[in-house]
Amino acid sequence: MNHELSLLPVIVGLIGATGQAQPQPPPDAPDPRRWCTQIPRPANTALERVAESTDWFDIYRVEDGIYGFVEAKQFQEAISYLIVGTKSALMFDTGIGLMPIRPIVERLTSLPVEVVNSHSHYDHTGGNAEFDRILAVATPYTAENQAGFPHSDLAGEVAPEAFCSGPPAGADTAAFHTRRWRPTKTVADGDILDLGGRKLEVLQTPGHTPDALMLLDRERGLLFTGDSYYDGTIWLFVPETDFDAYDRSMARVAALAPGLKRLLPAHNTVSADPANLARALDAFRRVRKGEVKGLDLGDQKRFFRFSPFSILTSVPLLEGREGDRTKGGSGLSVWR
Ligand SMILES: [Zn+2]
Repeated sequence: MNHELSLLPVIVGLIGATGQAQPQPPPDAPDPRRWCTQIPRPANTALERVAESTDWFDIYRVEDGIYGFVEAKQFQEAISYLIVGTKSALMFDTGIGLMPIRPIVERLTSLPVEVVNSHSHYDHTGGNAEFDRILAVATPYTAENQAGFPHSDLAGEVAPEAFCSGPPAGADTAAFHTRRWRPTKTVADGDILDLGGRKLEVLQTPGHTPDALMLLDRERGLLFTGDSYYDGTIWLFVPETDFDAYDRSMARVAALAPGLKRLLPAHNTVSADPANLARALDAFRRVRKGEVKGLDLGDQKRFFRFSPFSILTSVPLLEGREGDRTKGGSGLSVWR
């Protein structure tokens, strides 16, 4: 995860569960409700919104055979992609899992569909259990996250303030959790996923999580970046985040930018400028070196504003601490 208003949990965290004795967020902290005035985002509405869209999923045709499923009414603004070849189709992520996604996918393609995830945080694997064929990288972190995430971890994601206009009709917010899913095959760096008429190369790009991966369509100049890059606040604060790995991964993909036409990120917008990979890497390095002034948001989190992205990280990581990356994590966990 996440994005400009993905600071919502930070603010909610500041407010605390009791709803009293609230330390106020700093006056220039981002407004957690602002995203409601930002959706639908122009970068998305510039594209065709297909008729199969629903009240919950805004589905945009990004390119021929590529559909971005945007969950814009919940503050994460998670995006999953359906990529259709001539022989098979691939879902890159399955959303937060609040509403069924497979029936919508099946309206768009009758081809067999496999799932692969940008990483195993809950907001990208929520619909995995709906699918029979799932490719996954073989990391201990991924294996732990396959159990799904309980409601107690995710209650804040379906709290009233998590939505612009309330939860979608039919959603069971009181019981919301993500279900266990099981991979049917492993994937690794360099694997080619051949959908027929379209080849996608798997790039393992750890950093945001140990199991982060991107998909590269070299022929068409497309890079599906997951949560390693999107326009918005990039989350690099949890214990499973690895700064050295993120640096290496971003340097690797930034070098690909001259051959890229478009980034397809996992939050906010279905299209972003490949030149921003190098800008994000440079910003990240300046943050690490202490060259940029950040804003403390409490809970050890520190926010660094850039444009069109920002970086949300944490003091322990800035101080060089390393978390246990073999344990699972929802993306919401905090340092102890
Ligand atoms: Zn995410």
